[in-house]
Amino acid sequence: MQYRKIIIVFILFTFFTTLSNAQDKNSILETTIHNLVRDQVLTTSLRDGETFISTDELIDLLEGDITFDSTSQEVYILCKNTFILLSIDESFAYVNGTYTAMDAPTQLEVIDDKTHIMTPINFMLDALQIRDLSDEPMFEVPLHPTLSEDIMSEQTTEDVIDVQLPLTDEEEIDGNKNYEYIIVIDPGHGGNDPGKPNDGENYAGMDEKVANLNLALIVNELLSQHDEIKVYMTRTDDTYPTLKERCNLANEMEADLFISIHHNSFAPIVNGTETYYYDPENETLVTLANIMQKNVTAYAGTKDRGLRNESKYVLSHTDMPALLIEVAYMSSPIDGQLIQAPEYKIHSSLGIYNGILEILETLK
Ligand SMILES: [Zn+2]
Repeated sequence: MQYRKIIIVFILFTFFTTLSNAQDKNSILETTIHNLVRDQVLTTSLRDGETFISTDELIDLLEGDITFDSTSQEVYILCKNTFILLSIDESFAYVNGTYTAMDAPTQLEVIDDKTHIMTPINFMLDALQIRDLSDEPMFEVPLHPTLSEDIMSEQTTEDVIDVQLPLTDEEEIDGNKNYEYIIVIDPGHGGNDPGKPNDGENYAGMDEKVANLNLALIVNELLSQHDEIKVYMTRTDDTYPTLKERCNLANEMEADLFISIHHNSFAPIVNGTETYYYDPENETLVTLANIMQKNVTAYAGTKDRGLRNESKYVLSHTDMPALLIEVAYMSSPIDGQLIQAPEYKIHSSLGIYNGILEILETLK
């Protein structure tokens, strides 16, 4: 298996190095993929006249990143400057946040004792811009300009979201020295604490704790592709670490930045994003809060409700710059509809992610 992969990479490398024109590269790549399909090196299947390709193998081959979230039955792909969200048994995808119809649904299929994520091959080649280059170029994920190349050169492939809960021993802290930045991501609430709204309507169709975790997992995925960044999550599932435990983790890890993700609730008429910080002097943190607020509202498409300087527990018990983002209002019919839309997760996660990258640049 490994040997086969080396050969494929070598073949692709040879093609790439002998060609300089991007369009030629892509047509050669398309031909190469077709040949690999023909030679059954890449797993395919035929259903209702449609050819499906093993997306996990294809993305692996293209050195992209693919993650399957078994809870939401969603597949996140970051490959060739494109962010694709697939849903199992659904005939649509989000390509860089844009709704895109597919000829047939993505399905899980067991072939030769291995489960594959099977997607129509034509869709994948189009989405990754491997063919039809004469068409209008697709909208590209506006990744942070100085760090975007790091993401694209990364080569990790995981079948499931696999985030280790951090160990708080000396060994772990020593390991942190290999990273330029330590970031703690805190999905608010969890377990027996569903979050807001405590009373009143919830128009989001899910508990706040779920909405928070949805975004945190994607932000973690995006950040984890930077070699220089180590991410710790205060929770990766439906559990409840106490506020003290969340702060202790960040303090023990000597994190550079603590980001808590929440969704708010009030009267139905209120909607939008707020970023909270706690700075009695109101000097440095306000700059960072502004960066986050600007990014989240721009990407998520939410109303800018401004910053709040407030002594919330996780903001006043952490030793490093800490921000708490109330991304949108669960209690608002407007935000509720937004939160339920599949692209919301991508857009707001990209907002938080880009906000973090810009803050790290500022902290340098
Ligand atoms: Zn909350």
